[in-house]
Amino acid sequence: MHNTGSDMIAELETKGVSRRDFVKVCTIAAGAVGLPAWAGEKMAETVETAKRKPSVIWLHFQECTGCTESLLRTSHPDLGALILDLISVDYHETLAAAAGYQIEKSLEDATRENKGKYVLVVEGAIPVKENGIYCRVAGKTAVETVKRYAADAAAVIAIGSCASWGGVPSASPNPTGASGVSAVLGRTVLTLPGCPANPYNLLGTVLQYATFGTLPKLDEKGRPEFAYKRVIHDDCPRRAHFDNGRFAKQFGDEGHRQGWCLYQLGCKGPQTHANCSLLDYCETPGAWPIGIGHPCVGCTEQGIGFNVPIGVNLPIERPTAPMAYPGIHPEHGVVSASPVAVGVGGAVIGALVGAAVVASKKLSAEDSRKE
Ligand code: SF4
Repeated sequence: MHNTGSDMIAELETKGVSRRDFVKVCTIAAGAVGLPAWAGEKMAETVETAKRKPSVIWLHFQECTGCTESLLRTSHPDLGALILDLISVDYHETLAAAAGYQIEKSLEDATRENKGKYVLVVEGAIPVKENGIYCRVAGKTAVETVKRYAADAAAVIAIGSCASWGGVPSASPNPTGASGVSAVLGRTVLTLPGCPANPYNLLGTVLQYATFGTLPKLDEKGRPEFAYKRVIHDDCPRRAHFDNGRFAKQFGDEGHRQGWCLYQLGCKGPQTHANCSLLDYCETPGAWPIGIGHPCVGCTEQGIGFNVPIGVNLPIERPTAPMAYPGIHPEHGVVSASPVAVGVGGAVIGALVGAAVVASKKLSAEDSRKE
């Protein structure tokens, strides 16, 4: 049964999130994606007036399920519960109890009942080689499946590096022809690379999507600029060591133990567009590769992650950041990862569908303008 937006707010209140907290976090999130302060109030209204829980169809292809895991296994236990309470996840293979004909029927039923309204989230790469012998499920090839369910979706989101452009399964020699969703559909889809993608990038995107029917400004690869405009090196906490020539030379040496720059251990931070250095994973400070002493492998960057060996140094094209510090309206979005934000995340995702229809049309319009 679908809940209304006011039910969602009531549900949040039972979890200790007041409306005042709710509006406050919406305002912070609006700022994170570069919207003015009044947009936060509007976001709150959107959630409260939502008529029903939205339908989300989540497809898996070639991947490790890490994006789902990172979404549901946050250190704050309410996130997974809230999302599952507040949206209607009508099809998700990892979470489904059903199997075989039963789950195939649930997919058909969900897409028929929500035709043109559901959000299709794709996790995993699509194998395109050998006439679809890889990843064939219920007699359908992966290409047929993604095309079929994307056709009736209000919006398509590619989550993680595998769905973005192949990720791990596309590593040379890429025996299955693992490809990203945009490449397979032949059009731009909203793309959130990362291995796994940071769930708060999904939240920041969805907030704008749900409220205004617009997408955050995307780059030429479909990535929201608020999260992917700057390279990790620009905002890295080890940057001062790089600028002062203090480098770890071996794992475990004095420089490594002192927290010096990891460039000489193969760090790809200078070439990798992502906001990992600004947005904690699973609300755990320092829980990202460079934070725990491992060089960035470039997982969010097409052609670097899973293509360039970890220990190989790439040349630095831009030795200094374009500006030492982000401006007052930062290009990176920083969505509060507080428990309140967590609650709001579930609620706002719950308001997604109506706006997603509009946003999807805008994407199509943008595509046709490009053509
Ligand atoms: Fe940080 Fe890597 Fe840049 Fe060093 S090279 S400052 S570790 S991003």
